[in-house]
Amino acid sequence: MSRKLATVTKVKKFFPIEGADRIEAAIMTTNNWVCVVKKGEFAADAWGVYFEIDSFLPKEERYIFLDGRSNKTMDGVEGYRLKTVKLKKQISQGLLMPLSAFPEITNPHEGDDVTELLNVKLYEPPDAHQGGRQMSNNCTLRPFPAFVRKTDQERIQSFGTLQLMMLDNQKYEVTEKIDGTSATYYFNKGRFGVCSRNHEVSTAFDKMNILQRFIHWITKTFFGKKSETKSGISAGVSQSVYEDMAIKYNLGTTLPALCNKLGVNLAVQGEIAGTSVSSNRLKLDSADFYVFDVFNINTQEYMDAEERYEIARRLGLQHVPVIDKSYTLNLHETPIEKLIESADGKSALSDNPREGLVYKSRNENTPQVSFKVISNNYLLKHSL
Ligand code: AMP
Ligand code: MN
Repeated sequence: MSRKLATVTKVKKFFPIEGADRIEAAIMTTNNWVCVVKKGEFAADAWGVYFEIDSFLPKEERYIFLDGRSNKTMDGVEGYRLKTVKLKKQISQGLLMPLSAFPEITNPHEGDDVTELLNVKLYEPPDAHQGGRQMSNNCTLRPFPAFVRKTDQERIQSFGTLQLMMLDNQKYEVTEKIDGTSATYYFNKGRFGVCSRNHEVSTAFDKMNILQRFIHWITKTFFGKKSETKSGISAGVSQSVYEDMAIKYNLGTTLPALCNKLGVNLAVQGEIAGTSVSSNRLKLDSADFYVFDVFNINTQEYMDAEERYEIARRLGLQHVPVIDKSYTLNLHETPIEKLIESADGKSALSDNPREGLVYKSRNENTPQVSFKVISNNYLLKHSL
């Protein structure tokens, strides 16, 4: 599933920006982003194309006005990256352009995904790529296993009115969103595996059998750090932060043991943050792993919050900070703007501002829905 970055939309309404007479803010019919446009560029009810933040636009004549402030190179290709900006005290996210700039869109419908048609890519900073500090270059990558789901969260601003109605008046578990890198550890049909957000990564564990793992665990537990290298697996051998965490928590032994005990195949998913990871914007002293999901591979369902806390506890893992175990979303009392404001705050992990919050539904009768609410202060502070 790739992210919908460019959408055909209509403008719902405009509102003036204090102290500005050449620009105004636009709200669209298909989402809840707010975007500043030139006054008079659009009529209300006019068609446009909206590009979300993190879009990487190709270097084309029609985007030339972005030259100078948004230029980026990704995978050797030049283009423009869209961010969060503040114009005259008004936050503006993404880019809204009149449909007339896109003659290739011949049969527009509200909500159409034109990401691929317009050759828009998701901007990823070089750090997140292989070869960045998260993985060494000789770490081999395989496709992400089909029996687990990749981690992802939709932004609240991306939901349309109908989706919001379905989200409203439900109970949610609210956790802090950690700005690091996603990691998945699984045990399935006798196999332990380590994955980054999009790939399975090879590990020294791969090459060890159960007996070697047991010996590793014994040496580590009873003879401490010094013998660690003798067992053939140590931080020095590790090819990535993903494996570092597997080693730190001995997951290659404890996860299979727990799965066997419970008679179930599990994937433990979480965020690795700290030192070498994703610019370490939280300024943590060391890298660590924080669980946010446990996936039951047999039933293909996520475990509920209480079960997840229990699995994390039994594996000796930390959980992402829980802000509210049961929050009732009421968009009438707390509209989206207020919800976004409440994402501002201090991280529970350090003395720095947090990236935002993740809301996960607690309703047992409906499939799990979840979304992220990112702090605009955080986006502005780190120019994202
Ligand atoms: P983003 O980082 O903006 O791509 O948002 C989605 C990602 O947030 C997921 O893939 C997770 O890796 C990460 N994440 C960090 N903290 C949490 C959390 N508390 N709950 C769920 N996902 C999280
Ligand atoms: Mn992230």
